[in-house]
Amino acid sequence: MKYKIVNINKSGERSVLIIYTGGTFGMIQDASGALAPFNFGKVVDRVPELRQLGIRLTVISFPKPIDSSNILIQDWKDMAYIIEENYAQYDAFVILHGTDTMAYSASMLSYMLEGLNKPVIFTGAQMPIGSIRSDARENLITALEIAAAHSNGQTIVSEVCVYFNYLLLRGSRSQKLRSSTFAAFESENYPVLAEAGIEIEFNYPALKPFDPEAQLKVRNLMDSNVVILKIFPGITEHVVRSILENPNVKGVVMETFGSGNTMSFDWFIDCLREAIASGKVILNVSQCIGGEVEQGRYETSKKLNEIGVLSGGDITTEAAITKLMFLLGSEKVTKELKRQLPHSLAGEMDAVLE
Ligand code: ASP
Repeated sequence: MKYKIVNINKSGERSVLIIYTGGTFGMIQDASGALAPFNFGKVVDRVPELRQLGIRLTVISFPKPIDSSNILIQDWKDMAYIIEENYAQYDAFVILHGTDTMAYSASMLSYMLEGLNKPVIFTGAQMPIGSIRSDARENLITALEIAAAHSNGQTIVSEVCVYFNYLLLRGSRSQKLRSSTFAAFESENYPVLAEAGIEIEFNYPALKPFDPEAQLKVRNLMDSNVVILKIFPGITEHVVRSILENPNVKGVVMETFGSGNTMSFDWFIDCLREAIASGKVILNVSQCIGGEVEQGRYETSKKLNEIGVLSGGDITTEAAITKLMFLLGSEKVTKELKRQLPHSLAGEMDAVLE
């Protein structure tokens, strides 16, 4: 792949590589009036402050910037590859990405970048950089400041995060919750890692501790034969069977009610039991934004424990589906996959409540 590389600022104590993938951040209106991504070269002209930050800055741009609704597994591999190739030369990485699937990408990258001990910060914007009221400028500049932040020569952040609208969030805990306000992202089940006001206030106890011995190892095997089954009152056996009996489906994230409850009808439990017996993996996550799955708390979820549905605890759907793709790709032994699934790989969930 041919990446475009632009050096923006060559002097400064810390160095940051910006990876521009596309998204509203750098979009302009096409002839029909629809927003489409454009080249990052022009974006720099819109943010002259980038040259005054005192950070050595380079931008590497996807050859064809994309709307993140079109993100593919290959794009995740490309992002991880760029980080791996440039890991020794830069202190930190900022990924400019569309907001629609940013939480999925941040979750997946947090699994792929094993042994990460540098900041990888995703950011983007709700309005294009060319709009007068755009949030793009603030998001980018503060993401860069956070990426370059260090104390006693050591980076403060050493994990994959999302920075958006004054909040730094753990990437694998983040979710896009709003599409029409600047406060688009939250991490309901995990504390904010930093808040940007006049000062950037880091929440040190919530940050992943820096590990000087950690060695980056990119794990890029994935399997996308997965599905999200969102249950709802009145869902039919026919529909559930058509999903669970699909021979291509290897893993299912089942979005359930409240603290992990489903209908307890025999036909439904039988469908799940048969799917598990045929080798499929089913992970239970809650439709609620906050709180967690507690299989067995109610009678309606007790049976799930008995038949081997795995609890996703307080994981988000975005982190769960990417984790399933990641583990299906990297763990060939189902028993090992099932052992890892209910445990944290990259801080995406707390210990599962039994
Ligand atoms: N559709 C855009 C994208 O995700 C939305 C955005 O960037 O905010 O690429």
